[in-house]
Amino acid sequence: MNIKKIAPLKDARTKTVATVGPACGSPEKLAQLLRAGADVFRINMAHGSRESHCQAVKDIRQASSDTGLPAGILVDLAGPKIRLGQLTQNPLILENNQTVRMIRGLEAAADDELTCNYAPLIDEVAVGDDIVLADGISRIQVLEKSADQLVCTVLDGGPLRSRQGVNLPGTKLSVPALGEVDIENAKWAASMGVEFVSLSFVRNAHEVNQLKTLLQTHGSGAMVISKIEKAEALERLEEIVIATDGVMVARGDLGVEIPIEKTPLAQKRIIKLCLKHRKPVIVATQMLESMHTSKQPTRAEVTDVANAIFDGADACMLSGETAIGEYPIEAVMMMNRIMNESEQEFIGLVPKVTAYDPASSDWDKASSVLFGAAHTAKRMDSKMVMLASHHPTTALHKSKQRDYIPTVCITDSPETYRRMSLFWGVKPVLIETAIEETKLRTFANKWIRDNTELETGNSFLIVSDTEVLPGVQMLVMVCEVQ
Ligand code: PEP
Repeated sequence: MNIKKIAPLKDARTKTVATVGPACGSPEKLAQLLRAGADVFRINMAHGSRESHCQAVKDIRQASSDTGLPAGILVDLAGPKIRLGQLTQNPLILENNQTVRMIRGLEAAADDELTCNYAPLIDEVAVGDDIVLADGISRIQVLEKSADQLVCTVLDGGPLRSRQGVNLPGTKLSVPALGEVDIENAKWAASMGVEFVSLSFVRNAHEVNQLKTLLQTHGSGAMVISKIEKAEALERLEEIVIATDGVMVARGDLGVEIPIEKTPLAQKRIIKLCLKHRKPVIVATQMLESMHTSKQPTRAEVTDVANAIFDGADACMLSGETAIGEYPIEAVMMMNRIMNESEQEFIGLVPKVTAYDPASSDWDKASSVLFGAAHTAKRMDSKMVMLASHHPTTALHKSKQRDYIPTVCITDSPETYRRMSLFWGVKPVLIETAIEETKLRTFANKWIRDNTELETGNSFLIVSDTEVLPGVQMLVMVCEVQ
């Protein structure tokens, strides 16, 4: 198996998020995943202990330092995920038309009893509502309601296991977005200095802002990633996209909360809005599902990944494939093969319109300069753009502009370096100290000579926003490799 990372300018532009778990639970395994093309590691707070989460952060940092490759960390907060309590049997088989009762408490005492970890469920669900169990395996409908129980009929039977998910597609729940456990986990994420924190079951912009404030008050500048997995979130999508720093199309729960056949159009709509507002978007769940147990994905999975890229996804996520699958490295390599090939579609693409945000002069300045740089690069047949930036904003604008020209961003900020691991088409490079504009060309020339196959006379551009020259905010240099 060849897991050598390919030449930097030939890396896939689309980023890969890999979920950590027992299948990649050591710095060595994580290093292999990085070399195979993983960019961001996701720690799913729904599983594991504080101790195992701390160890995962330590191992990821170790793997990044051992390989010299950037690795972002995404802490995924479980949010108000409702789960079944203890069943009398595992699995418990529900038959169509059978009657079951949802009772209070956490432990069922009879085969026709179900419980869950959300105490007010019985109060908030109405007669006629559907309750979906175990990620859609089974569906029950409420026939009668009393103070202590819901009497339900089984519409779709199937096997259930204790602690599997409970979804209430038509019901507006009063449960807070950030429960006590989420708040503790967010504080922990802040203390560990992670780059991204995602929130499950987001319903509105207020919830996004709540998490942002919590992180900021605990000294974290982590980007908040809103997981879109509820119909309520789709109803208020634009306000969420504006408020958040990034988005995840969480197709697992989304495909249960809305009719499954509506998920492809929802995915396209979410990605389009993220492009409009220039927010990174991750497409998640079942992308290479069959690679849990197979070295080869299905044709449908390969096409799904490619279509996410054509839609404009910044990153694709692997869940169980890397956390508990038999072929975690092969799954990451396969992801990168599909990405590299699909991205050929973008060759020669230059931005058609500048993103103009009247609320932000910085936004307009950076996107205007980068727009011009992309067109210059195309006319000059430039082989590379090197950005020089302390903050991640310029790299994000470049990323969402979606031109295909190979782009590296040098930065003296370790936080920016790691954050760029989620930015489409930008290769992060960490330098020790900021480089004066007058010395940038020399640095770039050496970096190109050491790290790429560019040849003498090849054109490249440098775009700097480091404001080292007095009175100059941004600088574009058109250079030739020497
Ligand atoms: C999803 O539902 O698709 C998802 C990514 O979230 P989780 O893995 O936490 O269910």
